Order: sequence, then C-alpha cells, then structure tokens
Amino acid sequence: MSRVLVIGAGGVGSVAVHKMAMNADMFSHITLASRRVAKCEAVAASVKQRTGVTIATAALDADDIAATTALIQAVKPGLVVNLALPYQDLAIMEACLAAGVNYLDTANYEPRDEARFEYSWQWAYQERFAAAGLMAVLGCGFDPGVTSVFTAHARKHLLDRIDTLDILDCNGGDNGLPFATNFNPEINIREVTAPSRHWENGGWVEGPALAHKQVFDFDQVGPRNMYLMYHEELESLARFYPEIKRIRFWMTFGDSYLKHLEVLRNVGMTRIDPVMFEGREIVPLQFLKALLPEPATLGSVTRGKTNIGIIATGEKAGQPKTVYVLNICDHEAAYAETGNQAVSYTTGVPAMIGAALMLGGQWKGSGVFNMEQLDPDPFMDLLNRQGLPWQVKDLASPLAF
Ligand code: NDP
Repeated sequence: MSRVLVIGAGGVGSVAVHKMAMNADMFSHITLASRRVAKCEAVAASVKQRTGVTIATAALDADDIAATTALIQAVKPGLVVNLALPYQDLAIMEACLAAGVNYLDTANYEPRDEARFEYSWQWAYQERFAAAGLMAVLGCGFDPGVTSVFTAHARKHLLDRIDTLDILDCNGGDNGLPFATNFNPEINIREVTAPSRHWENGGWVEGPALAHKQVFDFDQVGPRNMYLMYHEELESLARFYPEIKRIRFWMTFGDSYLKHLEVLRNVGMTRIDPVMFEGREIVPLQFLKALLPEPATLGSVTRGKTNIGIIATGEKAGQPKTVYVLNICDHEAAYAETGNQAVSYTTGVPAMIGAALMLGGQWKGSGVFNMEQLDPDPFMDLLNRQGLPWQVKDLASPLAF
C-alpha cells in the first residue's frame, strides 16, 4: 500500500510532498495535514502546478492523539511521516500504535520546557512497536539521517573498521538577511545554544556552546568557521558503532549570525521559561520565533550551496585509510525544483526516500530503528537519483585537529 500521510506543512513537509508527487509510482495517494490547513492548501496548489498531482489536505493538531488517530483511520495510510516539530513525536507515535501504522520522522523528541533532545523517550517505544509488528524509523533527514547512512555506507563498503568520525555541516548559503534561521527558529536556537558535547573513548566530553572553532575549506563553498556542537546522531552512532573511539559534529556559522545570537541570548530573548508580560505569560524564544522569517519563505532569497558530509578514519585491508563522503546541494536549484531552499530540501528528500523504502518493503522490521541500523545501499542509490548525489574522496591524512 503506497498511501502516505505527512504531518507538518513547513519547509521540510513541502519538499517531501513535492518529491512524493514527482514519484507517483512510489506514492499512490498523498495527504498533507498540519495545524493550519491554509499552509497545506498552499503546498497542494504548488504541487498541482509543478507536478499535476492532486494531494489531499487536512487540519490537524498533532498534539491531540485522538484526533491524529482518527485522521490516520480515515486516510488509511501505509505510513505516517512526521515533519511537524520534535514536540509532537511521542503523540504521533502513540497515534500510530493506536491505528496500527508505521512511523517515520526527521528529529528526535524534545520536551517543550527543557532544551534537551535525546533518543531515550523514543527508544522506549521499542517493545510496543515490536509487539505490534510495526516499524518506526527515527531521524530520516540529512543530519540526522543521511549522515548516519553515509557512516553505514563507509563501514559496509569503504573501511573494515572506523576509529574516528567527524560530521561536517556547512550551509554556505546567503539569504541577505541579518538574522534568519534555515529551519524552525525555535528548534534551531535551542540546538545551537546548548553546550557542546562529543563522544570520546566511551564517554561524553562537554564544553561551552560554540566555544571550539576550526576553519575548514569546503568544496564549492570555500573556507568557513565551523564550531563543535552536540547533535542528535552522535547518540545513536555511539550506541550502534561502539568501535568508534571519537565522534564529533561541526557546523558552520557566519559572524553576523553569531553576533545576533549572542545579543539575543544576553538580553534573554532565547529563554524557554515563561516570563510575565503585560499580565500574561510569554516564552521569549517563542515570541522571537514569531518575529523571525519563516524558513519556508527564505527559498526565493537564498543563494549558494550546502556541503554536508562525514570524514571517517580507520583501516582497510590492514592499511590506515581516511574517507570523506559528502553531498553538495545548491539553494537556487532546490528552490527551482520545489519552491524551498536547500536546508528544507536536504531534509525533505531523505524523508521521502525513507518513506519510499518503507512503503516499498526494502526497509522492513518490527520495532524502533535509527538510520545506521538499516541497509544503506537502496538509500544511497535513491539519493543519487532523487536530487542529492554524493561523492566519496580518499583523503591523504586524517583531520589535523
Ligand atoms: P517549520 O516550522 O517550517 O514547519 C513545521 C510545521 O509543523 C509547521 O507547518 C507547523 O504548523 C506544523 N506544526 C507545528 N506544530 C504542530 C501541531 N501540533 N500539529 C500539527 N502541525 C504542527 O519547520 P521545518 O519544516 O523547517 O522542520 C520540520 C521538522 O524537520 C522539525 O522537526 C525540524 O526539527 C526537522 N528538521 C530536521 C533536519 C534534519 O536534517 N534531520 C533539518 C531541518 C529540520 P504551523 O505552520 O501552523 O505552525
């Protein structure tokens, strides 16, 4: 059955649904549901204009488990693709269990009142999904998502053992605005203001947020400052690849972005605890989100490229070896194809690919799965054919830092 229900009509949901409509052989019937149905209707109009495919739309508050269960029962999809916000993950997983349907998302659960994202809450669903004979795939975007698949590919085809792994995420795009985030501003700011953390010799090493910087010369972008950060795939990679001694995540930020962020933090605008304002409670970060541009509106003004990949050092046939697996994605090409910029594109396309593999039966299982647990081959094949071609480079030496 290739009926799919997508929840969340933001930038990522828009890309995923456009790409599903472009692959009508894999997705026979598409429904897009989100909090504001007008956003679904705008995406549906764009999909119709670009592909000729008609998709169904629905209003849904996905925090409401009963409402989500009822919508799943009415739509009868083979899979629910959750592209709303991390806050909704557990509610949508509950609804999938209640309705007996498989589940996929791109970001791990995070409570609203605490900037703490970790897999424990969703891994706790392992037995219930397994007992129901259902499959839940977690983190099927680019990072997490493709970065884990690149690692699985490196381990399966390029290296006999991985000793160190570095994930390098560069958004070399410029939207001309002094401060805007490329995906949901609230989630983005919670992520980048968290303490840095990386995996080393079986434990976590913590440091202050955005304190450790390196310059790296990214292909087709140029040299950029990148910062050591915590990111959710570190947790699953450390769990499923215990052989890897050190796993780090780096993300590039421009000086203007960091300057704005510092000021916003210093004045308290990134706080996630409620404060009283004119007789009512507001959460400063939620108020800030309301002022910032919606990521979905940045497509037409963003130029440049993203370059995201993994550098793995280890051994092949008894010899030391370092490989770099990466994708470069052009913001303007992504916009021309789907009406969304490359950060939404590089997340929505993997979500569509994961959905296609689950609906097509190439990825199957009972329980909760992270991307690195699944066969990377059909996914890597579809990345090349669905707009995110990858390349492998042999590096002469490991990273010097
Ligand atoms: P947006 O904020 O653009 O879109 C989120 C959408 O979800 C909005 O349309 C919003 O509706 C909808 N939504 C929010 N709450 C609810 C609810 N309770 N019920 C129904 N719909 C709801 O975010 P993005 O598209 O940029 O990101 C989507 C997801 O992808 C996020 O979880 C994000 O963390 C993740 N992501 C993952 C990446 C990866 O590489 N793995 C990279 C980038 C993003 P409304 O418009 O009405 O507010």
